[in-house]
Amino acid sequence: MYTPDRIFFEKEALNFPLGKKLLERFRREGKAVKYTSSHNRVTALPGDTPAQKFVEAKRTLVVGVRRTLNFAGCKPSAHYQLPLATGCPGQCQYCYLHTTLGPRPYLRLYVNIEEILERADRYISNRLPEETVFEGSATSDPLAIEQYSGSLARTIEFFSRREKGFFRFATKQTNVESLLKIKHNGKTKVRFSINTPKIVAEYERGVPAPGKRIRAALEMKSAGYPVGFLLAPVFIYKGWEKEYMDLLREIASLWKTVPSPEKNNDLITFEIIAHRFTARGKKNILSLFPGSSLPLEEKKRRFKYGQFGYGKYLYTPDIYKKLEELFIPAVSDLFPGGKVEYIV
Ligand code: SF4
Repeated sequence: MYTPDRIFFEKEALNFPLGKKLLERFRREGKAVKYTSSHNRVTALPGDTPAQKFVEAKRTLVVGVRRTLNFAGCKPSAHYQLPLATGCPGQCQYCYLHTTLGPRPYLRLYVNIEEILERADRYISNRLPEETVFEGSATSDPLAIEQYSGSLARTIEFFSRREKGFFRFATKQTNVESLLKIKHNGKTKVRFSINTPKIVAEYERGVPAPGKRIRAALEMKSAGYPVGFLLAPVFIYKGWEKEYMDLLREIASLWKTVPSPEKNNDLITFEIIAHRFTARGKKNILSLFPGSSLPLEEKKRRFKYGQFGYGKYLYTPDIYKKLEELFIPAVSDLFPGGKVEYIV
């Protein structure tokens, strides 16, 4: 479980009950606590090389206030992002945070969770009578700091009482115990991000093993949550089809063994996200992981502008066709009633 080595508090965070509680807790635990006027001023982290600075930033937690309460869009998984936290302690080479957080990948925990949820209520009201779906992991893995924030539990309970609001989050973490007994009313869906043994071994660091993620998924299923998996990012390499099929078969054999107490929550979903990269992400990746074997050749990819204005290098359309041909029939054969939500 994530334990930061150093913690910064924005002074304003101490105006909120969670900020005060965390300060007491960290002091009790003998942690090094410093103050900062803004997270943008967290600069003097140890480390001589970009790689050392990266590791030290991942061990740094900033307890602060989420000031921007305008939620960004979140296609294709939801209508809006729900900003519960920023950053992730994992050190996956392919991570999208290399683009969005760049050289400052420290974790940020927001203490003004009630203000964030109040704003979510306004977004829900504005779209009535339609349902509004919120994604809690667009800029973080919020489960990684749940032992400090409690924000996921609070958010799950909030959405359990919203008829027209639905919450989703994705994770590679497995510390789900605190979420198993709370009331969710089936209004929160959790998806576990998973990949083939080769990709995990080559590119993932600092995250629980895939077998543990699958077990955590089964625990959430047995607590009645809607559960899915993200196959992300899918890479094309020698033998990729067999390895992804083996992974689906492994999930299928375990999935059957655990019933869900809730009607229809046996219906598993998959989101398939093919590998992509940005120019900024590539630059950061190569400075942090020199000699990385990640496939980052622009000329083998298709360039496309994304929803946040920067371009991405995607696999070519023939590859996407192969992904559809592989995953859609496989999911329907192995998981009766389950489905692929999207392939992007
Ligand atoms: Fe990035 Fe996800 Fe890995 Fe965290 S677990 S480093 S968010 S890819």
